[in-house]
Amino acid sequence: MTVIEINNLKKSYHPGKLAVNDVSLSIAKGESLGLVGESGCGKSTLARCLLGVEKVDGGSIIYNERSLANASRKALRDYRRNVQTVFQNPTAALNPKLKIKDSLLDPFLQFQDELQLEHFHFSSKQAFVEQLLETVELPKELGDRYPHELSGGQKQRVTIARAISIEPKLIVLDEPTASLDVLSQGAILELLASLQETLGMSYLFISHDLAAVHQLCQRIAVMKDGEILDVFQRDNIYDNSRHDYTKELISIF
Ligand code: ADP
Ligand code: MG
Repeated sequence: MTVIEINNLKKSYHPGKLAVNDVSLSIAKGESLGLVGESGCGKSTLARCLLGVEKVDGGSIIYNERSLANASRKALRDYRRNVQTVFQNPTAALNPKLKIKDSLLDPFLQFQDELQLEHFHFSSKQAFVEQLLETVELPKELGDRYPHELSGGQKQRVTIARAISIEPKLIVLDEPTASLDVLSQGAILELLASLQETLGMSYLFISHDLAAVHQLCQRIAVMKDGEILDVFQRDNIYDNSRHDYTKELISIF
C-alpha cells in the first residue's frame, strides 16, 4: 500500500532555476525511504513541499488517492496530522519557554478529537507524557524540565516523541542527526529503527550521509541538482547498474 505519491514535482525560487526538478517518488506503508544527496541539491525543499510549507510550481502530491491541490479543508487537516516531521535542529523546534511536557502534548491536544490511538493510550496528560518519554527512552522526570536543561540528543528524542504522539502515517526526517555528536547519532538511528518496527509508520529519511541512510532505509533515492538520479533497494546498492553518481557516493562511504 502506498502512503504518499509525488508526481513530477517542481519548485523554483529563482526564474529559470529549479530547486526541485520533476521529482517523482512514492513511499509504501511501513517503508523507510532514504533521500541522499550533497548539500544544496534540493532535499529540504522537497521536504518542505511535502509538508505544505512551500508552494509547489508544478506536479502533484497524492495522499489517500487524492491530490492535495484540490483537497478539502478536512482532508488537508487529516494530511497535516498524518505527515509529521523531525528537523535537523531540535533546539529550534522546541519552544524554549515551554516545559517538555507541554511541548509534547501540543499536537495531541490539537488533534485529540480526530485520533484513534492504536499504540498509545490517553488516561491523563501526565500518564500520556510519561508513556511518550518512555517510548523514546527518556526518564519521565524530563517532562518538568525546559529544553535548555536537556542535551541535543535528548531534545531530538523529545521532537521524535512529539511526532509519533499522534500516530502519523509518515514522518519526514530532515537530517535529524546532523546536529548531534557521533554517539547520539547512532543512538537516534537505532531508536528510529525500533520505533518504526513497533509503530509501523513510514519514513522519508533525508541525509547527506549515505552510511546513515544505508543503515536505516530499505530503499534509497539519490538526488542531485534538484533531480532524482537513482532509486534502488538497499541490498542492490553495489549493483553495477547504479548511476555513476551513486557509485561516486558509495566510493566515499
Ligand atoms: P538541501 O536540503 O539538499 O541542502 P535545499 O533544498 O536547502 O537543499 O536547497 C536547494 C537549492 O535551493 C539551493 O540552491 C538553495 O540555495 C536554494 N534555496 C533553498 N531554500 C531557499 C529559499 N528559501 N529561497 C531561495 N533559495 C533557496
Ligand atoms: Mg537541507
